[in-house]
Amino acid sequence: MKKTALITGVLGQDGAYLAKLLLEKDYTVYGLIRRYTNPNYGNTDYLSVTKKIEFLTGDMTDESSLMNIIKVIQPDEVYNLAAQSFVGASWDLAKQTTETNALGVLYILNAIRYFSPMTKFYQASTSEMFGNTKDNKVITEETPFRPCSPYAISKLYSHWMTNNYRESYGIFACSGILFNHESPIRGIEFVTRKITDGVARIKLNLSKEIVLGNLESRRDWGFAGDYVEAMYLMLQQEKPDNYIICTGKTHSIKQLLDIAFSHVGLKDWGGFIKSDPKFKRPSDLVSLECDCKKSREKLGWQPKTSFEDMIKMMVDADLKRLEAQRNNS
Ligand code: NDP
Ligand code: GDP
Repeated sequence: MKKTALITGVLGQDGAYLAKLLLEKDYTVYGLIRRYTNPNYGNTDYLSVTKKIEFLTGDMTDESSLMNIIKVIQPDEVYNLAAQSFVGASWDLAKQTTETNALGVLYILNAIRYFSPMTKFYQASTSEMFGNTKDNKVITEETPFRPCSPYAISKLYSHWMTNNYRESYGIFACSGILFNHESPIRGIEFVTRKITDGVARIKLNLSKEIVLGNLESRRDWGFAGDYVEAMYLMLQQEKPDNYIICTGKTHSIKQLLDIAFSHVGLKDWGGFIKSDPKFKRPSDLVSLECDCKKSREKLGWQPKTSFEDMIKMMVDADLKRLEAQRNNS
């Protein structure tokens, strides 16, 4: 029998990549989307999967819509990717971030508990939950959490609720603690995509500068297309568990700028970068060093795409998109 999966947040970056992966594995893929006047299928169109997904209207803040969907379709697997996912906005939208990212997960877990207890559940947890680790030790699944944004706090609630429902009710619930992952369909406000889009605009003479905030940050940036495979693998194990997913290598924003600008033949990027305090955060993560030994050993997962190749792929995709827009106007 064909397996069925429900993906919340299916129109986001990871949702589109995961839908593609599951469709290739012959799943029936249901995608939960909010009610829109004009839905944006840009990401699923980019990966040519829009027509193959069965879209269902619901909302992470509407308990009965989630209960009803899970009761009716009784999916084999639920991947909960829906979230207010932008750390930077989470101070201004703290309540909405909490309702979507924290309470929404409780609603789904209850729906599984009452109406579809054999459904396996994946929760999109985040490295942000670790915050600035005290002694800069390498992060593992055992590292204590010190969240430092409303986003990270909301995700920590859902992470613990996932653990608790696994332990309390025997639900097959896994939490993937994913470090930053990017792609040509990453949200435009995230720093990688902001830079690759900005570099493409400068190259095409559509813009003269990129305005950024804290240039001192470092991150472990991987490729979303690789990371969704880890999500899938977690739900195929014999027992549910939590796993960190990362590349094990961090890079600075300055290295990101070096790669993106030199890819379009511009070596000296200093004159193109402006700083604006509005892009700085009330508190920020300096760097996150991690090791995903457990997922390597237990899931057999490793990243395939290097940071440099991913940034070049993103710049190329932004150039192509902007050129197409220019030719159509
Ligand atoms: P995106 O922001 O690209 O996608 C999030 C999706 O959630 C969007 O499609 C959005 O819908 C949907 N959504 C938001 N609020 C609601 C709601 N109330 N009801 C239903 N849907 C809603 O995020 P990513 O794909 O990058 O990330 C996927 C998940 O992984 C998120 O939970 C994120 O927090 C987490 N994560 C991501 C990391 C990363 O580096 N990408 C790192 C670690 C964790 P709409 O299109 O309507 O806005
Ligand atoms: P995050 O790790 O989920 O918060 O991913 P982001 O891409 O939003 O931010 C990564 C880092 O880049 C953070 O430390 C930001 O403070 C830093 N940064 C510097 N300038 C910018 C900017 O203009 N936009 C964003 N989004 N981040 C920036």
